Amino acid sequence: MNIVFLGAPGAGKGTQATMVSERFSIPHISTGDIFRQNIKDRTPIGIAAKGYIDRGQLVPDEVTIELVKGRISEDDCKNGFILDGFPRDVAQAEVLAQFAKIDAVIDIVIPFDKLMKRLTGRRVCSKCGESYHVDFLGDVSVCSKCNGKLIQRADDTSETVQQRLDVYMAKTAPLIDYYQNSGLLKDVNGDQPVSDVFKEIIKVLE
Ligand code: ADP
Ligand code: AMP
Repeated sequence: MNIVFLGAPGAGKGTQATMVSERFSIPHISTGDIFRQNIKDRTPIGIAAKGYIDRGQLVPDEVTIELVKGRISEDDCKNGFILDGFPRDVAQAEVLAQFAKIDAVIDIVIPFDKLMKRLTGRRVCSKCGESYHVDFLGDVSVCSKCNGKLIQRADDTSETVQQRLDVYMAKTAPLIDYYQNSGLLKDVNGDQPVSDVFKEIIKVLE
């Protein structure tokens, strides 16, 4: 099954995609994670992407599309994949449709005014990328999965978050209509505990 996870930044795409990936044994492909790894490794892709990501803007399609195309042509995607963070606008969705058949699009919906708190309170594992929130961390400062150090993403400051939310509204939100029109869109309520969101997604997918 080839799945796209839609939803605003902070809606819970990464959290849920990780769980769905384990359940169905298909890879979770997050373009944001791929860019962050490239930035860490100082690759040409990382160098090209960094400025855009730091400003909360979209990385140009010349960089992004080839990267996704290459990734989903890898062997581990043969039985399906989960795209998280791609497509980010209608132009990317149109290109995606030319090289992959999408079976379902899950839109994780949460009230817009809750996103700022989710994103500025997010902490991620510096090793494996697992997402946490300060509200539930207490004194914990390492990842429960791999013991990596938890850090705040450079683009999770309130100023950059605001810019990312503006970009989402202008460019990504129109994808809701786009996928609604193609009959693929399934809404899931993201404003409930993580395990309940997961149950809803599994129900929709099965
Ligand atoms: P996205 O990948 O859509 O940007 P994340 O999965 O990284 O979002 O989640 C954003 C933040 O919200 C993280 O701090 C995460 O721990 C937290 N979070 C995710 N799902 C929920 C939920 N259902 N309820 C409360 N907090 C959540
Ligand atoms: P994310 O991890 O999905 O929140 O993405 C972090 C940042 O990576 C975004 O703010 C963009 O700068 C960049 N990015 C991720 N996916 C894409 C994409 N599909 N197209 C363009 N830029 C992207």
